[in-house]
Amino acid sequence: MPRKKHSISRRGVIRSGIAGAAAVSLGSLLSQRPARAEDLPMLAEDDPTAQTLGYKADAAEVDTTKFPKRAGADGDKQFCDTCQLYVAEGDGAAGKCSIFPGKLVAAKGWCNAFLPKTG
Ligand code: SF4
Repeated sequence: MPRKKHSISRRGVIRSGIAGAAAVSLGSLLSQRPARAEDLPMLAEDDPTAQTLGYKADAAEVDTTKFPKRAGADGDKQFCDTCQLYVAEGDGAAGKCSIFPGKLVAAKGWCNAFLPKTG
């Protein structure tokens, strides 16, 4: 019985290489999927950017002497969930904010970047 020759063609090696690279790239893409909102951590008030902007998870705790924008009757209406930059997630108790990517902010929170929703 003649012995079967095993030969690996250059074309076969190239095809295998392309398939392997594609599999690795797909794996990399899948591992870099954006985190689901429920997996995102809540923004900490001691986050440096949060501190700079006076973020508080409870807007009633904002120091209005430092951040007078939230003082008075108009200020009392300002919450993350009435801000243009807020996108509610899940049950609406928290949401995403473009100022703080990768974190959730409290619906009843506030920071000095507040922009009232229009319309
Ligand atoms: Fe909340 Fe708006 Fe400040 Fe974001 S920008 S933390 S949604 S008040």
